[in-house]
Amino acid sequence: MDTEVSEPILFPPMPQPDELSAFFWEGVEHHRLLMMRCETCGTYVHPPKGSCPDCLSTSLMPTEMSGRATLVTWTQPMQPFDPYFSAHQPYTFATVNLVEQEPLRFATNIVDCAEDDLRIDLALVVTFREVAPGCTLPLFRPAP
Ligand SMILES: [Zn+2]
Repeated sequence: MDTEVSEPILFPPMPQPDELSAFFWEGVEHHRLLMMRCETCGTYVHPPKGSCPDCLSTSLMPTEMSGRATLVTWTQPMQPFDPYFSAHQPYTFATVNLVEQEPLRFATNIVDCAEDDLRIDLALVVTFREVAPGCTLPLFRPAP
């Protein structure tokens, strides 16, 4: 008799795309990091908004990013708020800055990097990981 019991699959809090963020998640699905960019003044806008915070233009277009960033700050949460994250400790939650603009902050996780190797301005590159069935997220790892 087979008595093997498989662990239940844990899901992180799942993205809930709306009208403004649907393009972002569609890009992630195809392993492309997209940000809104103002067609009038060129400013990148993240999180996506209906208008440019610099010139108030409503002419914004999804634009593919290089995927390169630098590390701004990070933490390794000791009391995660969600069972998914508790099951994946330790993990590094971080704010990175995409190289296309200063500031252009992005909240993510750092992967493939020992805690001792983390430092401010560490060069990073995006990596798309399926963290649960059907859920891919844009995470960052040290640049090669
Ligand atoms: Zn603008």
